[in-house]
Amino acid sequence: MGPLRRTDVQSNFRVQVSKDYLVFASAHFITFKGHQCETLHGHNYRVGVAVEGTVDPETLFVLDFSVLKQITRRLVDAIDHKVLLPTQNPKLGFREDGDRLAVDYFGQPTYVFPKRDCALLPIPNSTAEMLAQHLGVQLRQELASGGYTHLTLLEVEVEENYGQSATYREGLVPD
Ligand SMILES: [Zn+2]
Repeated sequence: MGPLRRTDVQSNFRVQVSKDYLVFASAHFITFKGHQCETLHGHNYRVGVAVEGTVDPETLFVLDFSVLKQITRRLVDAIDHKVLLPTQNPKLGFREDGDRLAVDYFGQPTYVFPKRDCALLPIPNSTAEMLAQHLGVQLRQELASGGYTHLTLLEVEVEENYGQSATYREGLVPD
């Protein structure tokens, strides 16, 4: 057996930003199987983001940390201090009434919130998994529009409680 050799593929690197300052405090409730639904409650969510790719030949970084922080901060700020509502949940109905948003569960009027305090998310349930995916899809779009098209993977972790998190991972086709 010969020595372990690497392939001709350019070396890949991974950068991640700490979740300590990427926090959002939001309210939500999850619908379970059948007719079970959580009551409204809140979490101090924490977000971690990682991307992988080759390093730029001149700067020798995959992506400037500050770029990754700024994008993630913006995505997190958009849902901070909000009631997270999954608009694709078939068990929920939403009715706008002036400045208020009424939420029905299986057709039963259940909650009324001030509209400005709600984040309407195009997801089927506000689980940590779906929140991570939602942030991941937005992160991909932000990176693409920023011209960062050399990346090979992105990851978003959403921690709902200490030691309790979900990670969404998406492979990317680099330019
Ligand atoms: Zn919860």
